[in-house]
Amino acid sequence: MAGLEDLPVEVSPRYEGERIRSGDMYVELAGPKSFGAELFKVMDHDEVRDGNVEVIGPDIDDMEEGERYPFGIFVKAAGEELEEDVEGVLERRIHEFCNYVEGFMHLNQRDQIWCRVAKKAVEKGFKLEHLGIALRELFKEEFGNVIDAIEVVLMTDEDKVKEFVEYAREVYAKRDERAKELSEEDVDEFYVCLMCQSFAPTHVCVITPDRTSLCGSITWHDAKAAYKIDPEGPIFPIEKGECLDPEAGEYEGVNEAVKEHSGGAVERVFLHSCLEYPHTSCGCFQAVAFYIPEVDGIGIVDREYTGDTPLGIPFSTLAGEASGGEQQPGFVGVSYGYMESDKFLQYDGGWERIVWMPKELKERVKHAIPDELYDKIATEEDATTVDELKEFLEEVEHPVVERWEEEEEVEEEEEKVEEEAAPAEAPTLEVGELPLVPGGGLNVKIVLKNAKIYAEKVIIKRVDKEGGEK
Ligand code: SF4
Ligand SMILES: [Zn+2]
Repeated sequence: MAGLEDLPVEVSPRYEGERIRSGDMYVELAGPKSFGAELFKVMDHDEVRDGNVEVIGPDIDDMEEGERYPFGIFVKAAGEELEEDVEGVLERRIHEFCNYVEGFMHLNQRDQIWCRVAKKAVEKGFKLEHLGIALRELFKEEFGNVIDAIEVVLMTDEDKVKEFVEYAREVYAKRDERAKELSEEDVDEFYVCLMCQSFAPTHVCVITPDRTSLCGSITWHDAKAAYKIDPEGPIFPIEKGECLDPEAGEYEGVNEAVKEHSGGAVERVFLHSCLEYPHTSCGCFQAVAFYIPEVDGIGIVDREYTGDTPLGIPFSTLAGEASGGEQQPGFVGVSYGYMESDKFLQYDGGWERIVWMPKELKERVKHAIPDELYDKIATEEDATTVDELKEFLEEVEHPVVERWEEEEEVEEEEEKVEEEAAPAEAPTLEVGELPLVPGGGLNVKIVLKNAKIYAEKVIIKRVDKEGGEK
């Protein structure tokens, strides 16, 4: 059986940061302009043809340069100790392992994967079959303690990939469903994932039963299972500690862990807020929640949507702003799973504060949105600019509109208070040049040029020659 050393390209963690720009790319697989998915599935021994690597559909030598193809990555594994719980976490490693392959780039996860093969890899003789071998070998190397049998099936045939994506979505849904059975109050431990620190060094993912990782692929159950099979790995438990603010989702243990693992860069995290002390974002988030100051509401945009948000920029630009691992009030990366939590951005007002989402995303998470709000959240069909959005929200009487009224009242109140403190007709003396003649017989003159003098009252009194008041 071929090993890593028999492949025409190198396989090593040092290729992880490699980016393949469109000019250097031979073909693109899956991605926003095509489709695809990846899945790691624990199966019975007799369902896994151990060692088998297969490509269904055209491999690189049958593809046309510069073209785009659908793509599926299906890793099947069996093992005595291997439980379904670990699927999400091992699936997440597909991303990392694919990127070890020289000349192969893998972005995102689940049904959002986006891959590229570099021209220089193809020149060396790289084929998708080699990617399959690399995955098989890397999984065996890292998880040989739990994986007894493994098979990798890669798909580029359009119909096969379509079928596979449907199947994968069912599996994801089941996993996410399970995650909803618990909430933060039910557990004493949360989990931290540091996998993305390779490119976002201060990013610390905190995974709770209510908050799936922002990449969408690791639930609290997944994290727990990951730690069990790989206690030295990038995912480990932390003490929840005292809850400092249940609305915000601020926990003593989270603050401590985030501070420690971000090297002190982040000291405080509100797990359920986009506006204050938000969770950091590395860049793999499924969606971004972003504050729209003009309407005092929050928009959400996911990776699938390629048009502009009401801010006048698309997901990719917003994602650039929000990523990198720094804490940025007003931006937070979120997963679809988190949108389904009862605690979703509850500190900011939850769904009552959400004002805009792409139509498809809204449809996708429909069951999580309270019925009475569903029609009040604008999509690209209702508003593509802030002005249109404002108009729409007013028309449908979105709950944020009440906030505007309250704000106006507060502003009016403030104005009133100011007026009382400083009447508009407060006497102001404007002088071009005002000589001040200090006393004490000093022979100097101080000149204030163009000074505006404000006084509560101006009293003009005649002074007699001796200086005494009359
Ligand atoms: S986004 Fe978070 S949970 Fe997902 S792999 Fe990166 S660090 Fe881990
Ligand atoms: Zn990440």
